[in-house]
Amino acid sequence: MKRYRAEFVKIAELPSHVEISESSRKRIRDVLEHFDFSNILFLTGKTSYNVAGAKIEEKIVDLIAEKIFISNASMDEVRNIEIAVGYADIDAVLGVGGGKVLDVGKVIASEINVAFISIPTVASHDGIASPVASFKEKGKPVSISTRPPTAVLADLTILRKSPVRFLRSGFGDLISNITAVKDWKLANDKVGEDYNEVAASMAVLPSRLMLNLESIDFRDLTTLEMLVRGLILSGVAISIVGRSRPASGAEHKFSHALDYLGYGNALHGEQVGIGAIVIEYLHQKYYGIGDWEAVKNALEKAQAPTKAKEIGLTKEQIIEALIYAKRIRRRRYTILEDVNPNKDEFEIVLEKTGIC
Ligand SMILES: [Zn+2]
Repeated sequence: MKRYRAEFVKIAELPSHVEISESSRKRIRDVLEHFDFSNILFLTGKTSYNVAGAKIEEKIVDLIAEKIFISNASMDEVRNIEIAVGYADIDAVLGVGGGKVLDVGKVIASEINVAFISIPTVASHDGIASPVASFKEKGKPVSISTRPPTAVLADLTILRKSPVRFLRSGFGDLISNITAVKDWKLANDKVGEDYNEVAASMAVLPSRLMLNLESIDFRDLTTLEMLVRGLILSGVAISIVGRSRPASGAEHKFSHALDYLGYGNALHGEQVGIGAIVIEYLHQKYYGIGDWEAVKNALEKAQAPTKAKEIGLTKEQIIEALIYAKRIRRRRYTILEDVNPNKDEFEIVLEKTGIC
């Protein structure tokens, strides 16, 4: 008789409640009461508090045990908050804010083993619902695995008023799933890495849908909703497999390389968007699958950067980062490990794609 191999069974933790609407912020009290949370650690940022946090606080003021303003995403910040909060019986962490607030919230909630509730005030990457936090330690980027948020209230009224550059960046991060999933499939073919079709589809289908839009304007509610839904599904896809693979391939290695080299002054989604054009080009050239022009056109339609100079980079810096990218997450097999392009080849790619 075959023995039951328990180690192969994975139980994915997913958000229990996701709401994407023009008024989901107003549902916060219902959500907290539904889960029976009454001692909340409320995290927010200065701007986020002014645009959304203060009104949300008013609705649940009796349920808030502590309110803390987050200024940076690091383990030091997490420790300081844990000291400030002490052993108050916190039963949930609520984050109303952008990347830093949500990242710190996810880590604290995971550390003290309570629920995290996410109310994003910007949608600049797929972290709004993912089980991954991006911290900066000693000036270098670090990814930390966390539990996914228990609830995500994505309020389109708040997000529509956020700076459009952030939404365009979110679109770059979403589009990059197209190349991330190609790299994942390649790793499955070439080195036998586990591949999960459901997670791959969740990550890639929303971006494919948006690739075909005639115009992409995030002030338009339907388009904004597609973007937010796509970013949340990306986060859920990551939760299903317990790693960022469905939403992070060679284009993310390139962006991380820019950050490591100290060139990454643009937003995450802006960098991975440009990376996705290069990586799509390579997949198309070597395997005949992909359409780098469609990726580039979509970014252009959304008015996201597609040129090195738009994110303040030179050709030399981009090439250095593309070459350095292979040193990031070495075990994650991508087209860069597969075809190992050299400097001359990258130069041709950058010229042909019009990046620089
Ligand atoms: Zn990303």
